[in-house]
Amino acid sequence: MSFENLNKLKGEIYGCSICGQCVQGPVDPFRPNVVFTDYMPNRTCPMREKYRLLTYSGAGMNTIARGVIEGDLEITDELVDAIYKCVLCGHCETSCGEVFNFLRTVVGKDIGHGVKVPEVVRAFRADLVKAGVGPTDNFKKVAAAIEKGHNRFARLQSDRTKWVPEGMQIPSKGKLLFYVGCVASFKNKENAQSFAKILNKAGVEFAILGDEEWCCGGPQLLNAGLVKQFEDQVKHNVEAIRASGATEVVTTCADCYKSFKIDYPTVVGDLGFTVLHSSELLARLLEEKKITLSKEYLETVTFHDPCQLSRIAKITEQPRTVIGSIPGINLVEMEGNKDYTVCCGHYPQELPETTIQAGTERIKEAQATGATTLVTACSFCKWSFSAAARKLGSDIKVLDLTELVAESMGL
Ligand code: SF4
Ligand code: SF4
Repeated sequence: MSFENLNKLKGEIYGCSICGQCVQGPVDPFRPNVVFTDYMPNRTCPMREKYRLLTYSGAGMNTIARGVIEGDLEITDELVDAIYKCVLCGHCETSCGEVFNFLRTVVGKDIGHGVKVPEVVRAFRADLVKAGVGPTDNFKKVAAAIEKGHNRFARLQSDRTKWVPEGMQIPSKGKLLFYVGCVASFKNKENAQSFAKILNKAGVEFAILGDEEWCCGGPQLLNAGLVKQFEDQVKHNVEAIRASGATEVVTTCADCYKSFKIDYPTVVGDLGFTVLHSSELLARLLEEKKITLSKEYLETVTFHDPCQLSRIAKITEQPRTVIGSIPGINLVEMEGNKDYTVCCGHYPQELPETTIQAGTERIKEAQATGATTLVTACSFCKWSFSAAARKLGSDIKVLDLTELVAESMGL
């Protein structure tokens, strides 16, 4: 096997000193060191939490990558399975980068960065796919559904617009395009419905692609190493959006947002339109006084930062601005927030065991704050947390930001 993609990332892989910060947080939680951070996460890697072995961690991913590059490790089914256990949450990279953040404050300039473990894992998977030994079965099933019908649920594309609220007519052309995504189109329809009602009430004209909207491809194809299939989705979606005349595209899903904003330009260059997350648009509409949040929400609420939105795309303030504008609300923070958010599990279909464990741990963390409502801003987080709350028998309400806003607008 050539490991062409992994070899390009040797600088990252060999930069890993196997120090273990990505396993148990940037410092030993029992010997707190205030130079790094007040928050000492000890649940850094969701797959390590599930499997309790160093193999399943950022350090493990780098060590395996080095082993195969140097020819010391054979590609076995077990190895392939381990590489597909990572949920690409990026927590390891942030923890790894803490040392460099500290050194930057001492030296006064950048002297390095955290090891980009998610890039290493994606490259590894792309090589495994090229060699015909990846992805693993659950990833394959989702990819096959997308190949056949352009959505992850193997549903008919003609059903994609069934979420549209009764009586609402949404055109297919316009300056602002709402890219709905598979999960909000077929599963958490309430996210899409709430957002559409908010835009309608604000007098904002918007369009949707309808059955021309294909899966964004990010979490399910690019992250699985299925690069060619991902590129096909990208090219179709970008072409369809350009044909719609849109100059702005808005998504309610953090994964779709990250895909459009960060991954799509690596395939097609300049998109020709800007990409917004719903939290950015809602904050803008509030500032322009196009929406008014007047109905009280007399509950304690905590916000879960989706990994792809906060840690990767660096959007953390807009959702809090929006939530904080709701009268009567008591917004409290979980310890793991913003850059140090703790992953929801991310893969209810592909990695159900890790996802349910990560989701239930996060629900417990939310409950420990005294919150009765957990708000997020991503279709995958809502999906993971709703399943986790059911499994725990928890009565915490799990809402998307759009649902909370719609409720406060009386919609
Ligand atoms: S990825 Fe970074 S934090 Fe993790 S073991 Fe390697 S050097 Fe340490
Ligand atoms: S990206 Fe997330 S799941 Fe993967 S190794 Fe890093 S912390 Fe663990």
